[in-house]
Amino acid sequence: MNKYLNQLVKLSEINKEIDAFEPRVQKINKTLSVASEKAKTANSDIELLENEIKDAKLKRAKNETLLGELGDKLKSISKKTSSIKSEKEVKALQLEEDIAKEQSDFANDEINRLEKVIELKEGDKVKAKELYVELQKAEEDLNVSMEAERNAIKDEMAAAYAKKDELVSKMSQKILSFYEKIRKWAHNSAVVPVRKQACYGCFMRINDKTNSLVFNSEDIITCPHCGRILYREAAEA
Ligand SMILES: [Zn+2]
Repeated sequence: MNKYLNQLVKLSEINKEIDAFEPRVQKINKTLSVASEKAKTANSDIELLENEIKDAKLKRAKNETLLGELGDKLKSISKKTSSIKSEKEVKALQLEEDIAKEQSDFANDEINRLEKVIELKEGDKVKAKELYVELQKAEEDLNVSMEAERNAIKDEMAAAYAKKDELVSKMSQKILSFYEKIRKWAHNSAVVPVRKQACYGCFMRINDKTNSLVFNSEDIITCPHCGRILYREAAEA
């Protein structure tokens, strides 16, 4: 392979290496944001449970107040009952007493139900808090390991750019701009191998003449179909 083509193949490899860094960084960011989102959700679950408990406690207190009032009412009814004579009044008081007792039963049931709700939600809250602590810890650990990964990528990137700078400084400007022109549309497949007499950029078969040129010529040969720079691989040669 001629020197210029050899440089182009190397440059193309380095550019591929450089372009592969961004998806790795994105993957790290994605992993971190997923972990952070999980912890946030767990935290809002705790808040939700706290609000539900607060609400149930408030309702319980209202029912307790009501129960107290109904107790007073029942006491006053029983006092009145002993002092009245007419049957009509007795009946009216009896009705009032029945209603108050029914309301008391209902308030008691409601308090019992709310007690159960509170107990259940308190249990859920404990679990949610444990989960939150766990997720927070996982997020912190992930931050540490991802930071190490980020630094590793930074080092690799610096090395790749240094390698590229060194190579480019030795290359001919004319060849470099020819390559960059192709790279604008072909991106990382600007320089491709020929395998089984096909261009590995557009995957079309190249004619015998071009194939022979790729294998024997000292010039830079491009694909007659797509215009990518072709080279022969050691194995194919
Ligand atoms: Zn092609």
